[in-house]
Amino acid sequence: MTSTLVKVPFVDLNLQHQEIQSEIEEAIAKVIERGDFVLGETLAEFEDSFASACEVKYGVGVGSGTDAIAIGLRACGIGVRDEVIVPANTFIATIIGIIQTGATPVLVDCDRHTALIDLEAAAKVVTPQTKAIIPVHLYGQMVSPRQLLDFASTHNLLILEDAAQAHLAYREGSRAGSLGIAAGFSFYPSKNLGAFGDGGMLVTNNEEIANKARILRNYGAKRKYFHTELGKNSRLDTVQAAVLNVKLSYLSEWNRSRNQAAQQYDRLLERLKPQGINPIENQSGAGHIYHIYVIEVGTGINRDEIREKLALSGIQTGIHYPVPCHLQPAYEYLNYKKGDFPNTEASCDRIISLPVYPGLTNSQIDFVCDRLQAIINSSVLH
Ligand SMILES: *Cc1c(COP(=O)(O)O)cnc(C)c1O
Repeated sequence: MTSTLVKVPFVDLNLQHQEIQSEIEEAIAKVIERGDFVLGETLAEFEDSFASACEVKYGVGVGSGTDAIAIGLRACGIGVRDEVIVPANTFIATIIGIIQTGATPVLVDCDRHTALIDLEAAAKVVTPQTKAIIPVHLYGQMVSPRQLLDFASTHNLLILEDAAQAHLAYREGSRAGSLGIAAGFSFYPSKNLGAFGDGGMLVTNNEEIANKARILRNYGAKRKYFHTELGKNSRLDTVQAAVLNVKLSYLSEWNRSRNQAAQQYDRLLERLKPQGINPIENQSGAGHIYHIYVIEVGTGINRDEIREKLALSGIQTGIHYPVPCHLQPAYEYLNYKKGDFPNTEASCDRIISLPVYPGLTNSQIDFVCDRLQAIINSSVLH
């Protein structure tokens, strides 16, 4: 194996941590001093501050983003025999969250240009069993709140947002997490707001749902040793809450920096459009927080070859995601087949995620775009 010097990593968490290391160490030291590692004081503080940042009343810290979705659905009374509409173009965890409740995920295709759920397609799969829709704010761009609220009221469905990639994203005057009955966030380390391990949060304006979620995450007990619900053990550690609370005050600035990086990519990649390179459309301007910056290559272009050549230049890329949920072997029993969701399938075959993170420099972005152009110009088209 030849080792190539990495010039542009896909993500660089060290950059943000160096900036705030002493603050984080202090916050962790406080938790150690207090010793309240599970459901401690700093967790309650972070739940409040994150919920208000999302312009929502209540936050319930849980073990992961996956659990936030599962616990959120269960707190809304969704379970066996219920159907939940979800985009096929998402990370598998959205589907796992639904299946954990006993409900059936009903998949729909995405829009060609934004890669977000296609609500016209969603309208066609509503049945009397449909209870909710989970819009996924994929890559950091919200599904249009106006269209979503219209859809949900027309069909009388609950909205539970999967906002795992959309911390503080906004569109049409609304924040991610504030649209529906509840919303799930993930604090997986590489998310825009990431812990030093796993973590997640359910946010809601509904006090009853918040209370129910608090019971569900804590063995189903409201009072210790008295179990009124079939609960689980899924809490956000106090130490993680301390880390996240420090990071939260930097998040808007970090998101802005990602959005600026994306604008720079957009400008530089404009000249590659005639050659079939198209960024996924941003329809929300500054409210898109670019958890991931994604381009689509035309049908004549060999994506893997481009990625390999970029890697040889020291540029790391990703694919989010290479295999759509409905074609994953574990979910064969849901009875979907190749061809069911053509936009999702085409997207999975043609997308490349370029590096984006706070601290990525303009000259790194220039370098990525220059290399991409050189590779496209020199490559044999298939
Ligand atoms: C990361 C992610 C999740 C799951 O979050 P975890 O904390 O990893 O369980 C769910 N949905 C989407 C869209 C995600 O990106």
